[in-house]
Amino acid sequence: MKEHIDTIPVNEAFESGDECPFCYLERMADQRAIRYVIGPGASYMEPDIREITNREGFCGAHYKKMYDFGNALGNALIMQTYLDGVLEELNKEAESFTLPDKRPLFGAKKAAQAEDIPMLQWAKNRGSTCYLCQKLEFNMHRYFHTFFVLLKEPEFRAKVEGCKGFCMRHFTQLLENAKGELSNAHREWFYPTVIRLMKENLGRVKEDLDWFVGMFDYRSAGRDWKNSRDAVSRTMQKLQGLYPADPPYKEK
Ligand SMILES: [Zn+2]
Ligand SMILES: [Zn+2]
Repeated sequence: MKEHIDTIPVNEAFESGDECPFCYLERMADQRAIRYVIGPGASYMEPDIREITNREGFCGAHYKKMYDFGNALGNALIMQTYLDGVLEELNKEAESFTLPDKRPLFGAKKAAQAEDIPMLQWAKNRGSTCYLCQKLEFNMHRYFHTFFVLLKEPEFRAKVEGCKGFCMRHFTQLLENAKGELSNAHREWFYPTVIRLMKENLGRVKEDLDWFVGMFDYRSAGRDWKNSRDAVSRTMQKLQGLYPADPPYKEK
Protein backbone atom coordinates (compact mmCIF):
# COMPACT_ATOMS: atom_id res chain seq x y z
CA MET A 1 0.00 0.00 0.00
CA LYS A 2 1.13 3.52 -0.82
CA GLU A 3 2.58 5.32 2.19
CA HIS A 4 -0.22 7.49 3.32
CA ILE A 5 -0.14 10.13 6.04
CA ASP A 6 -2.25 7.95 8.39
CA THR A 7 -0.55 4.58 7.80
CA ILE A 8 2.50 5.60 9.83
CA PRO A 9 0.66 6.42 13.09
CA VAL A 10 -1.66 3.41 12.71
CA ASN A 11 1.32 1.07 12.25
CA GLU A 12 3.08 2.76 15.16
CA ALA A 13 0.01 2.28 17.39
CA PHE A 14 -0.09 -1.45 16.65
CA GLU A 15 3.62 -1.75 17.46
CA SER A 16 3.34 0.31 20.67
CA GLY A 17 2.42 -2.50 23.09
CA ASP A 18 -0.42 -0.29 24.41
CA GLU A 19 -3.46 -1.95 26.01
CA CYS A 20 -5.44 -0.43 23.11
CA PRO A 21 -3.88 0.86 19.87
CA PHE A 22 -6.92 3.09 19.27
CA CYS A 23 -6.50 4.71 22.72
CA TYR A 24 -2.90 5.37 21.69
CA LEU A 25 -4.03 7.04 18.45
CA GLU A 26 -6.76 8.97 20.21
CA ARG A 27 -4.39 10.35 22.84
CA MET A 28 -1.96 11.43 20.12
CA ALA A 29 -4.69 13.10 18.07
CA ASP A 30 -6.21 14.76 21.14
CA GLN A 31 -2.89 16.23 22.29
CA ARG A 32 -2.12 17.42 18.76
CA ALA A 33 -5.52 19.14 18.58
CA ILE A 34 -5.14 20.76 22.02
CA ARG A 35 -1.73 22.05 20.97
CA TYR A 36 -3.26 23.36 17.74
CA VAL A 37 -6.07 25.16 19.58
CA ILE A 38 -4.16 26.74 22.44
CA GLY A 39 -0.47 26.14 21.64
CA PRO A 40 2.33 28.31 20.24
CA GLY A 41 0.88 28.35 16.68
CA ALA A 42 -1.85 30.62 18.14
CA SER A 43 -4.57 29.37 15.77
CA TYR A 44 -7.02 31.23 18.04
CA MET A 45 -5.74 34.49 16.55
CA GLU A 46 -6.96 33.42 13.10
CA PRO A 47 -10.44 34.82 12.46
CA ASP A 48 -11.73 31.70 10.65
CA ILE A 49 -10.70 29.41 13.54
CA ARG A 50 -12.15 31.81 16.12
CA GLU A 51 -15.39 31.89 14.16
CA ILE A 52 -15.65 28.09 14.58
CA THR A 53 -14.72 28.06 18.28
CA ASN A 54 -17.18 30.93 18.88
CA ARG A 55 -19.89 28.76 17.39
CA GLU A 56 -18.98 25.30 18.74
CA GLY A 57 -17.35 26.01 22.11
CA PHE A 58 -15.80 23.17 24.13
CA CYS A 59 -17.00 20.36 26.42
CA GLY A 60 -16.03 20.28 30.10
CA ALA A 61 -13.37 17.59 29.64
CA HIS A 62 -11.67 19.65 26.94
CA TYR A 63 -11.83 22.92 28.90
CA LYS A 64 -10.02 21.07 31.68
CA LYS A 65 -7.35 19.90 29.22
CA MET A 66 -7.01 23.42 27.77
CA TYR A 67 -6.62 24.79 31.30
CA ASP A 68 -4.00 22.19 32.18
CA PHE A 69 -2.11 22.84 28.96
CA GLY A 70 -1.48 26.41 30.06
CA ASN A 71 -1.63 29.67 28.08
CA ALA A 72 -4.12 31.53 30.27
CA LEU A 73 -4.26 34.50 27.86
CA GLY A 74 -5.05 32.27 24.88
CA ASN A 75 -7.84 30.58 26.85
CA ALA A 76 -9.15 33.99 27.92
CA LEU A 77 -9.22 35.30 24.33
CA ILE A 78 -11.03 32.21 23.05
CA MET A 79 -13.67 32.47 25.78
CA GLN A 80 -13.98 36.25 25.48
CA THR A 81 -15.48 36.17 21.99
CA TYR A 82 -17.34 32.91 22.68
CA LEU A 83 -19.04 34.60 25.61
CA ASP A 84 -19.90 37.66 23.47
CA GLY A 85 -21.94 35.31 21.26
CA VAL A 86 -23.59 33.62 24.24
CA LEU A 87 -24.58 36.97 25.75
CA GLU A 88 -25.95 38.26 22.48
CA GLU A 89 -28.09 35.16 22.00
CA LEU A 90 -29.17 35.13 25.64
CA ASN A 91 -30.40 38.72 25.31
CA LYS A 92 -32.41 37.77 22.23
CA GLU A 93 -33.91 34.73 23.98
CA ALA A 94 -34.73 36.89 27.00
CA GLU A 95 -36.56 39.44 24.86
CA SER A 96 -38.89 36.83 23.39
CA PHE A 97 -39.22 34.83 26.60
CA THR A 98 -42.72 33.97 27.74
CA LEU A 99 -43.65 32.16 30.93
CA PRO A 100 -43.91 28.38 30.44
CA ASP A 101 -47.30 26.73 30.97
CA LYS A 102 -48.52 26.35 34.52
CA ARG A 103 -47.65 23.11 36.27
CA PRO A 104 -50.66 20.76 36.12
CA LEU A 105 -52.31 20.25 39.53
CA PHE A 106 -52.63 16.52 39.00
CA GLY A 107 -50.55 13.93 37.21
CA ALA A 108 -46.92 12.92 37.40
CA LYS A 109 -44.23 15.58 37.70
CA LYS A 110 -41.82 15.54 34.80
CA ALA A 111 -38.82 17.55 33.68
CA ALA A 112 -39.43 20.31 31.15
CA GLN A 113 -39.03 19.25 27.52
CA ALA A 114 -36.76 21.35 25.32
CA GLU A 115 -39.56 21.97 22.82
CA ASP A 116 -41.76 23.45 25.57
CA ILE A 117 -39.36 26.27 26.39
CA PRO A 118 -37.30 27.97 23.64
CA MET A 119 -34.84 29.22 26.25
CA LEU A 120 -34.19 25.62 27.35
CA GLN A 121 -33.79 24.49 23.75
CA TRP A 122 -31.24 27.25 23.17
CA ALA A 123 -29.28 26.51 26.38
CA LYS A 124 -29.17 22.80 25.55
CA ASN A 125 -27.89 23.35 22.03
CA ARG A 126 -25.38 25.99 23.10
CA GLY A 127 -23.71 23.61 25.54
CA SER A 128 -23.81 20.44 23.47
CA THR A 129 -20.99 20.94 20.98
CA CYS A 130 -17.19 20.88 21.28
CA TYR A 131 -14.70 21.92 18.63
CA LEU A 132 -12.05 19.52 20.01
CA CYS A 133 -14.44 16.54 20.22
CA GLN A 134 -15.40 17.18 16.60
CA LYS A 135 -11.76 17.26 15.51
CA LEU A 136 -11.10 14.06 17.45
CA GLU A 137 -14.06 12.28 15.94
CA PHE A 138 -12.93 13.29 12.47
CA ASN A 139 -9.39 12.00 13.08
CA MET A 140 -10.52 8.74 14.68
CA HIS A 141 -12.82 8.12 11.74
CA ARG A 142 -9.78 8.43 9.45
CA TYR A 143 -7.70 6.10 11.62
CA PHE A 144 -10.41 3.43 11.62
CA HIS A 145 -10.65 3.77 7.84
CA THR A 146 -6.85 3.36 7.52
CA PHE A 147 -6.96 0.32 9.83
CA PHE A 148 -9.42 -1.45 7.54
CA VAL A 149 -7.43 -0.50 4.40
CA LEU A 150 -4.20 -1.79 5.98
CA LEU A 151 -5.79 -5.19 6.68
CA LYS A 152 -4.98 -6.03 3.06
CA GLU A 153 -1.33 -6.34 4.09
CA PRO A 154 -0.33 -9.66 5.70
CA GLU A 155 2.37 -7.88 7.77
CA PHE A 156 -0.23 -5.54 9.24
CA ARG A 157 -2.59 -8.42 10.03
CA ALA A 158 0.30 -10.08 11.89
CA LYS A 159 0.74 -6.89 13.94
CA VAL A 160 -2.96 -6.90 14.81
CA GLU A 161 -2.78 -10.58 15.81
CA GLY A 162 0.11 -9.76 18.14
CA CYS A 163 -1.40 -6.66 19.77
CA LYS A 164 -2.89 -6.55 23.28
CA GLY A 165 -6.48 -6.20 22.11
CA PHE A 166 -8.68 -3.15 22.60
CA CYS A 167 -10.51 -1.26 25.29
CA MET A 168 -14.27 -1.82 25.46
CA ARG A 169 -15.02 1.63 24.03
CA HIS A 170 -12.82 1.15 20.96
CA PHE A 171 -13.88 -2.50 20.57
CA THR A 172 -17.41 -1.13 20.23
CA GLN A 173 -16.28 1.43 17.64
CA LEU A 174 -14.26 -1.22 15.80
CA LEU A 175 -17.36 -3.40 15.40
CA GLU A 176 -19.42 -0.36 14.37
CA ASN A 177 -16.88 0.73 11.75
CA ALA A 178 -16.43 -2.84 10.46
CA LYS A 179 -19.97 -2.75 9.15
CA GLY A 180 -19.10 -0.17 6.49
CA GLU A 181 -15.34 -0.61 6.12
CA LEU A 182 -14.43 -4.31 6.38
CA SER A 183 -13.86 -5.97 3.02
CA ASN A 184 -15.65 -9.27 2.51
CA ALA A 185 -12.28 -10.95 1.96
CA HIS A 186 -11.34 -10.37 5.60
CA ARG A 187 -14.56 -11.15 7.45
CA GLU A 188 -13.47 -14.65 8.36
CA TRP A 189 -10.15 -13.38 9.64
CA PHE A 190 -11.41 -10.22 11.36
CA TYR A 191 -14.18 -11.39 13.69
CA PRO A 192 -12.48 -14.47 15.19
CA THR A 193 -9.23 -12.49 15.56
CA VAL A 194 -10.66 -9.51 17.41
CA ILE A 195 -12.85 -11.72 19.59
CA ARG A 196 -9.83 -13.85 20.54
CA LEU A 197 -7.82 -10.69 21.26
CA MET A 198 -10.55 -9.36 23.52
CA LYS A 199 -10.97 -12.64 25.43
CA GLU A 200 -7.25 -13.26 25.93
CA ASN A 201 -6.33 -9.72 26.87
CA LEU A 202 -9.27 -8.89 29.12
CA GLY A 203 -8.44 -12.21 30.81
CA ARG A 204 -4.78 -11.23 31.17
CA VAL A 205 -5.63 -7.83 32.68
CA LYS A 206 -8.08 -9.53 35.06
CA GLU A 207 -5.27 -11.85 36.20
CA ASP A 208 -3.03 -8.82 36.84
CA LEU A 209 -5.85 -7.21 38.82
CA ASP A 210 -6.42 -10.42 40.82
CA TRP A 211 -2.69 -10.57 41.59
CA PHE A 212 -2.73 -6.89 42.64
CA VAL A 213 -5.62 -7.50 45.07
CA GLY A 214 -3.91 -10.63 46.38
CA MET A 215 -0.80 -8.62 47.22
CA PHE A 216 -2.77 -6.83 49.98
CA ASP A 217 -3.21 -10.14 51.80
CA TYR A 218 -0.72 -10.44 54.70
CA ARG A 219 0.28 -13.87 53.40
CA SER A 220 1.64 -12.19 50.26
CA ALA A 221 4.34 -10.32 52.20
CA GLY A 222 7.60 -10.41 50.27
CA ARG A 223 5.98 -11.79 47.13
CA ASP A 224 6.75 -10.41 43.68
CA TRP A 225 4.21 -7.88 42.33
CA LYS A 226 4.78 -9.37 38.87
CA ASN A 227 3.01 -7.30 36.24
CA SER A 228 0.38 -5.98 38.64
CA ARG A 229 1.69 -2.62 39.88
CA ASP A 230 -0.24 -0.63 37.25
CA ALA A 231 -3.16 -3.07 37.06
CA VAL A 232 -5.67 -0.46 38.30
CA SER A 233 -4.89 2.11 35.58
CA ARG A 234 -4.65 -0.53 32.85
CA THR A 235 -7.98 -2.04 33.88
CA MET A 236 -9.61 1.41 33.80
CA GLN A 237 -8.21 1.85 30.29
CA LYS A 238 -9.55 -1.54 29.19
CA LEU A 239 -12.99 -0.65 30.54
CA GLN A 240 -13.40 2.93 29.30
CA GLY A 241 -10.43 3.82 27.09
CA LEU A 242 -8.59 6.41 29.19
CA TYR A 243 -5.13 6.85 30.72
CA PRO A 244 -5.85 7.76 34.36
CA ALA A 245 -2.14 7.71 35.28
CA ASP A 246 -1.16 10.28 32.63
CA PRO A 247 0.09 13.60 33.99
CA PRO A 248 -1.72 16.62 32.49
CA TYR A 249 -0.57 17.43 28.97
CA LYS A 250 1.24 20.77 29.24
CA GLU A 251 2.75 23.42 27.04
CA LYS A 252 6.48 22.86 26.16
ZN1 LIG B 1 -9.16 2.26 23.44
ZN1 LIG C 1 -14.71 17.91 23.86
